[in-house]
Amino acid sequence: MSTTLIRGAWVLAPEPIRDGAVVIAGDRIAAVGTYTDLAAEYLGAAQHGSAHDIVGPGFVNTHGHFSEGLITGIGSDFTLWEWIHTLIRPVDPHLDRRKAYLGTMVAGIQMLRSGVTTANDMFVCTPTGTPVSPGVVDALDELGLRGVVSFGAGDVGGAPIAAQFDEHEALREAATASRLCTFRLGIGALGGQSDEMFARSVDYAVGGGHGVHIHVQEIREEVTATFARTGRTVVAHCAHEGLFAAPTLAAHCVWVDRNDRRILAEHRVGVAHNPVSNMILASGVAPVAEMRELGIDVGIGVDGPASNDSQDYLQALKTAALLARVHHRQATAMSAYEAWEMGTIGGARALRMDDEIGSLEVGKKADVLVLDGRGPTLANVHDPYQAVVFVAGSREVSEVWVDGVPSVLGGDVVRVDPGEIAELSRPAAAELVTRAGLGHLSALVEA
Ligand SMILES: [Zn+2]
Repeated sequence: MSTTLIRGAWVLAPEPIRDGAVVIAGDRIAAVGTYTDLAAEYLGAAQHGSAHDIVGPGFVNTHGHFSEGLITGIGSDFTLWEWIHTLIRPVDPHLDRRKAYLGTMVAGIQMLRSGVTTANDMFVCTPTGTPVSPGVVDALDELGLRGVVSFGAGDVGGAPIAAQFDEHEALREAATASRLCTFRLGIGALGGQSDEMFARSVDYAVGGGHGVHIHVQEIREEVTATFARTGRTVVAHCAHEGLFAAPTLAAHCVWVDRNDRRILAEHRVGVAHNPVSNMILASGVAPVAEMRELGIDVGIGVDGPASNDSQDYLQALKTAALLARVHHRQATAMSAYEAWEMGTIGGARALRMDDEIGSLEVGKKADVLVLDGRGPTLANVHDPYQAVVFVAGSREVSEVWVDGVPSVLGGDVVRVDPGEIAELSRPAAAELVTRAGLGHLSALVEA
């Protein structure tokens, strides 16, 4: 079994260790401690990092959509439902497994370059009979990025229920056969499913022992529409129908009131806070502090490439702290440490994966981030958490290890050629927006 020692001026495990090191043996963390002790104990280990670097657990991206990987930076001046209507719905029927693969590559490379080691994804497409979403698993395994994969099902647009479950099954099988992916049941949103399909979704998740990934109360209109139809909020209706018996990750929860928050806490529903997309789509400000005070596990997500539009996790971390501060007009509203904690162990808890990932502890999976401290940006670290959240950019990400194997070395991905992926993605993106009839929004569509 190969042994690797990664050194840092700071090892955030999460408690900070000065001049520390983490030792990787196989796919696990074998030791965490001071560099002096561990270098003496693991004499034959390959050495990475430096005396100036910051080493920590990789980031847990709790919400995103690889299905949007080829439509980034398009149609940004919409609110959520306008954006879905104008952009997402026209694109959905034209996605195929190769476009899923390429979109995941394009977005996944950006995530890895910004320190993400686990991505919780919801692939949104119209099932056609030929599985599309397994393309996500193909790409994540090739990149070396841990994935929690789901298909964001919904039959309200007219797609048959049976085809939706065929897509779930195809993705589940691909994840089971993969090295780094686990499956969750995706529900685009409560309002996107008929009562019949939602009941089947609950049965599938609870009966099959699957986790759930669902959008919840992202905008006020969603709450109002659901209340008019069911007499309950989305959160209350999901609880009433038994969905939360399955481990559930609820994305957004911007418009959750006191009763909703109580229900989320009671059922241990994890929440993905997506500050950048909430700001781009003008959805509002999620009550992060109020949820955390109730003990709700809140992680941070980048959200999709068509609604963030960057996939840079360090931007999302910084924005989470900035949004909380400007919203509450208090500099104490969210500390750098709190943002970092939500980006690591908080996200792992929200996905109920904290026994395996989210911190550098002996026995956990070796998902490790190294920030280069040899250059000017992190030359003078007064506080390591502020250095990561407020100072560092993706340029400082020098190494990313996933499952004990390097996915990023020397600042770039190691298993694929990013230039080649960019080249392959260009005709696929142009074809996608052309077929979707998005000439009014995209410069890639020839007049
Ligand atoms: Zn989303």
